[in-house]
Amino acid sequence: MKKYTIIIIILMTALFSYMSLDTFSQLNEEIQPVIIEDEIENEDDLDPEPIVLKISAVGDIMTHGPQLRAQYDSKKDIYDFSNNYEKVQSFISQADLALCNIETVFAGIEKKYSSYPRFNTPDSLVKALKDVGFDIAVTSNNHSFDRGVEGVMRTVQIVREGDIKVVGTSFEDEQKYLIYPIEGIKVGVVAYTYETPKYHGAKTINGLAIPEEVEDSINTFNYEEIDEDLDKMKTAIEEMKAQGVQVVIFYLHWGQEYLRNPNEYQKKMAHYLAENGVDILFGSHPHVVQPTEIIENKGGHKTIVFYSLGNFISNQRYELMGGRYSEDGMIAEVTWEINPENQEGSPTLVKCIPTWVHKYNSNNKNNYEIVPLPQFLDEENLSESTLWRAENSYNNTIEIIGAEYLNPNTEELIIFER
Ligand SMILES: [Zn+2]
Repeated sequence: MKKYTIIIIILMTALFSYMSLDTFSQLNEEIQPVIIEDEIENEDDLDPEPIVLKISAVGDIMTHGPQLRAQYDSKKDIYDFSNNYEKVQSFISQADLALCNIETVFAGIEKKYSSYPRFNTPDSLVKALKDVGFDIAVTSNNHSFDRGVEGVMRTVQIVREGDIKVVGTSFEDEQKYLIYPIEGIKVGVVAYTYETPKYHGAKTINGLAIPEEVEDSINTFNYEEIDEDLDKMKTAIEEMKAQGVQVVIFYLHWGQEYLRNPNEYQKKMAHYLAENGVDILFGSHPHVVQPTEIIENKGGHKTIVFYSLGNFISNQRYELMGGRYSEDGMIAEVTWEINPENQEGSPTLVKCIPTWVHKYNSNNKNNYEIVPLPQFLDEENLSESTLWRAENSYNNTIEIIGAEYLNPNTEELIIFER
């Protein structure tokens, strides 16, 4: 570029000394295209900017009885869940794609709102999740069938009406996975939940037999027929890829409750899915945080596995559970870059943001807020016990994820950085 510019300047100076201004302005149009062409050639030499996607996910969103009471506004006679998410909004809303697991159903007020063991939550939870920035809700989990067929169907409808995409449950004849376009990139998302042992040949979830006509409406797998079901998952990957999907995301409801490490089934499934080209695997259901792993398959492809993201929100407190780990969760954050020339993508940054559910009483009412760690520890006026619990939660999550991933400068858990 520099060389050409100098030559052109010399030429122009030469022309100036031999011509009058009038003659030059006539020639000007002919000279200029040379400069433009030269610049275009140089622009072509530059590497095109990669397309950067930020993908985030959180674990189980539960609504226990004390939460229902806490979120009820008696003056307005409404349930408002928005305060739960205020302190994590900036993390969720900045993602291009944010996922969560809704571990309840929206069966409507007529069926009465309820807690464990058969959940039914006010529809307004969807609005709070939309406002905080969630784009996709996973609805296949062991509570999907808590209010029967109607609960499954109404949940799909209510979440979609709230402008959040649903994955894991669907209406009859609908595609069982989701193709989500972001910036011209097709992201494929699919979710499955574990089944409980069959009952007289019928598929069951949490011990409830699923009527045959809605069997296909809930994406499930069975540990007793795991090889067959992994084949089914492989087919879903192939179908998505055949439709041009460039990033394949799985969200699985699996593992053993309260176990802080993945079991053999989780490991087997993760490795199988990694071998078959899944890019990111999010897990939930154990209600505690489990480790993350980057699995490199035979072809050198990397799969990022978050075995369990823990509880994003629940009333599973130390006082009830005898253990503290179910108060903990995390926001998993994957930055994915795609080269627009060859359309190949890979992770460039993988982070975990530990979260803790801060439950406190003010004006004789319970408050629940999900807080990011360690940021929350800097807040003023925290009681000694709150500070201790939050610090303890942060340390417990670091212990599981691995202290070696803690960046001493930022105090962030960086799992992978390219
Ligand atoms: Zn569950």
